Amino acid sequence: MKKFFQEFKTFALRGNVLDMSIGVIIGSAFSGIVTSVTDNVVTPILNVLTGGATYSWADIAGFASSFLSSVVNFIIMAFILFCILKAVNKITEIGHKKIHADAKPAPPKTKTCPFCQSEISFKATRCPHCTSQLPVEEPEQPAKETANHVEAS
Ligand SMILES: [Zn+2]
Repeated sequence: MKKFFQEFKTFALRGNVLDMSIGVIIGSAFSGIVTSVTDNVVTPILNVLTGGATYSWADIAGFASSFLSSVVNFIIMAFILFCILKAVNKITEIGHKKIHADAKPAPPKTKTCPFCQSEISFKATRCPHCTSQLPVEEPEQPAKETANHVEAS
């Protein structure tokens, strides 16, 4: 189950999924505007031209206000989506950086001598400061290797 979530995270953080779903949401929001244009602009004009329908100023104001509200809805939705996208992009960036850091840990160039606490070359087998013979340490698990060495000696 943990692996499943890990895979899902990798999948979702690729960004394509988010872009795609935002495209779908924007698309449906935009189709709302198109519907509003049809209902509030095109249809009344056609009714006037073909059916001889007459609209009062109140009717026209009603059409205008419902059209404007659909435009405002679209703008608000687009703005919220923009904020979400920005936030997710930031998270994705952090995720990528973390993956990058996990993949390439900087190899240590120095270590501390366990006998005199001096900073010495990582490859040193004998401390240049106190001339002690040093335990061989692997860069991956220094603590474990040191513990094994102590047990063996
Ligand atoms: Zn030393």
